[in-house]
Order: sequence, then structure tokens, then C-alpha cells
Amino acid sequence: MAIDALSCCLRISSLRVLARILFTCLLCLVPIAVLAEDQTAGSSITGTPPPRLPVVRRLSEQFLEQLDQQRADLAKEVVASETPYPFVRGTFHFHSRLSHDSVGTLEEITAAAKATGTRIIGFTEHKSREVDVVATNAAGWRDGIYFLAGTESSNALHWPGREGENDVRFLCHLEEIPTFDREKYDGIEIYNTHSDAKDEPISMLISAMVMNMGAVRDHPESAFCSFLDYPADFLARFDRLTIAGRYPGLAGNDSHQNQALRVAALPDGAIEVRDYADEVVWTDNGLRAKMLLAAFGQKENPVERTELANVQLDPYEISMRHVGTFLQLDEVNEQSVRKALRNGRIILGFELIAPLPSVGFWVERRQEPVGTVGDEIEIKEGMQLRVDLPATAQIRVVRNGQTFASFEGKQLTLDLHAPGVYRMEALQTLAGQQYPWVITNPIYLVEGERQ
Ligand SMILES: [Zn+2]
Ligand SMILES: [Zn+2]
Repeated sequence: MAIDALSCCLRISSLRVLARILFTCLLCLVPIAVLAEDQTAGSSITGTPPPRLPVVRRLSEQFLEQLDQQRADLAKEVVASETPYPFVRGTFHFHSRLSHDSVGTLEEITAAAKATGTRIIGFTEHKSREVDVVATNAAGWRDGIYFLAGTESSNALHWPGREGENDVRFLCHLEEIPTFDREKYDGIEIYNTHSDAKDEPISMLISAMVMNMGAVRDHPESAFCSFLDYPADFLARFDRLTIAGRYPGLAGNDSHQNQALRVAALPDGAIEVRDYADEVVWTDNGLRAKMLLAAFGQKENPVERTELANVQLDPYEISMRHVGTFLQLDEVNEQSVRKALRNGRIILGFELIAPLPSVGFWVERRQEPVGTVGDEIEIKEGMQLRVDLPATAQIRVVRNGQTFASFEGKQLTLDLHAPGVYRMEALQTLAGQQYPWVITNPIYLVEGERQ
């Protein structure tokens, strides 16, 4: 059913995992912040990250209004800067009407791409007996957007070879696959929107959405952020994989545009909520129903079933903006896109938190850039790691899965003395909650001859 994006496991483990991760980060942070402070201007991150509010609070009118306001304020601070390695916005793991669980059209998808600055879309349709979903789908340039036609099956996103290029395969829905053969895939999802939503207690999530239907409708982007978590489990596995050898990670948007809630009042005073497939996902005939009826201005029970609201929770534009997979390439074509994916020239940006018109994470020596994410670089005397963000954030540089430097600011320069697998993440605190904004693939610094 349609709410399966929000359903499955009724786990509250995400809260515990998040708390554990944040606590662990804090422990590592103390000596590291001092190290970073010696090398850059700005202030180090101090204090305890805020505790996660319950979902019913995160969907309240008051919270969503505050989040909308603070997102708008942060967006005003964003200023793009020149970086030596420019990135192009893409979105991967994407479904259209060719999949059994979506009715989205190519026109809607193209419009969403244009609205979000997305230039590359990697379709991954569910396979079908009736139609060849790869041959039928858009591939190559269409109306200014570059498309890859592919499939999703057995936890693999698969883009069959085209224009002389080899197949590309990424493992998806990591939470369902405890172990796998890394050689069978070119990389993994290090974030997936459905996986993220699934770890909320579903009954609470639907109930919170229904009770706050007006607020959800009026603040659709902030409401979409309500389930956004730092992908701690995925990143822990990604760190282990990359420490063992170069391995790319992308974001799975898993966009379907199929999450709708249709609220109806029934003659007996009950309220009924159905999803896009017309399945009942929530009913109530008690106090909550009365409150909802009042909220919708219904003073008396209707004579017949009456629809009160129909809210699309995941329009393509919002689920696309939610997270982007930014690829480092100069020119968009079949070869360059596949190469960037295979080589991990990838940065994830959560743009409902703040726009990401530019992002930089690279190594330089004597002010000359020598490589960026996905690259393997021989470490030499005088090399420095550079971070450049378009707005102030809580920056964390991770080396071999451990916090290496932690800092609040826009730019960061760190002297490099040791080989290792270095990646960067930037977090934002909005409305008292911490959200991931940027997560990069690693730069691999290997032992080289000293000069
Ligand atoms: Zn699907
Ligand atoms: Zn999917």
C-alpha cells in the first residue's frame, strides 16, 4: 500500500542510535576541536546536540512555522563560492508511472528537476512483465535534463550499459541487507528517503500527520523534513567499506509521488483517512474525530461521506529537493555520469535544509588543488584539506570513521600529516533540531614519498 514508505518496522531505535552517535561524536570532539582551532579562524562546536522532539511536536503548526522561518533565514545567508571542483545536481533512485506504485509523468518529473536545479535523473523503475521499463523510459538528453534508464530489483539499482558504457549497480535499502559482496556492486546508497521514514513509529507518524493536517498542508517542505535523520547506521557501514577500499555512496531519493492522505467525514461522525490507492490507513470516531471535524469547520455529521482534505505529501519537487546526489564532472554525458558514480565523485546535499549552490571538499598543496572526493592521493609534505560551504554549518571531518576535526564555520583548512580515508559532513540546527545538510564521499590519502 502507499503508506509503505512510512510503514514496516515500528522501531524507535533511530532515537537511541542518534543519541548514541551524537554522544560518541561529543566524546571524540574534545581534543579534535582544539586541533582544528589552531589551524583555522572561527569557533569550535561546543555543547550537547539537542534531543529529538517526538514526531507529534515536529509536525505541530508551531514547530513547522518556526522551521519554515529558520530555513528561510538560513537560505538568505547562502552565497555560492568558486571552488576548484564544481558539482552538478543529480537525483538517483527514481520512479515514474512505469513503476506499478507511481502515476508520475515525465512532464511532472522534468518540471520538478527544473525547479530544483537537477540536471541528471537516474530512473530505477520496478520491473514489469508487460513493458520493458528500460527501453521505454527516457534516456540521454530530454528537455535539458540528462536521464539514465534503469531498474530497481532485489535491492539493486541497475543502469544497464549504454553508448558503449558498462552497467552500473548500486545496492539500495541497506537496512534490508546485513551483508553483501562488495564486488557485485559499484557502490551503495548512504541515504534513502524511504529507509529514513520507515524508522519512525508508523501509527504515531500517521496520527501526528492527520491531527496536524492543516499544518502539514501549509508547510509541506518542513513537514517533509520531520522524518529526516542523520543516517548513522548507513554511514557506519559506509566507513567500514571505504576503510577497506575505495567505495562510492549516493543518495536514494526513492521518489514515487504516491504518498497522499485523503481525509473524509462519515455520516456516523467518524473520520476516515485513505491513501492514494484508496486503502483506509486511519480511522477514529471519538474525541480526535470531533477535533478534526471542528478543525475543518464541520459542525454536524454529514449526510453522506464527505471529503475534507486531500494532501499530497511527496510531490516530486519536494522529494527531489529533499536530497540531491551532486556529481563532480565538467560535462554531462553518458560516460562522465557513470564515471563520477563509479569513482565516488559524489556529495550528498539535503536542500530542504538549505540550498547548496556550491560545495567544496578537496586537497591542495601550495594553493594548487590536487584532488577531491573519490580520488586517491599520495600524501606529500604541505598538503591541506579544504572545506568550502555556502553558509555557516557545524562541520565535521571524519578520518577512518572517527571524528578528525569538528568546527562551526563556512571554510576549514586542515594540515594533512597522515594517510587515511577522509570525508566531511555539515549539519544545521534549525528549530532546536539538528539535521544533516551535506555528506561527502571520502578522499583517500595514501602513503607516498615525502618531499
Ligand atoms: Zn516503489
Ligand atoms: Zn524504489
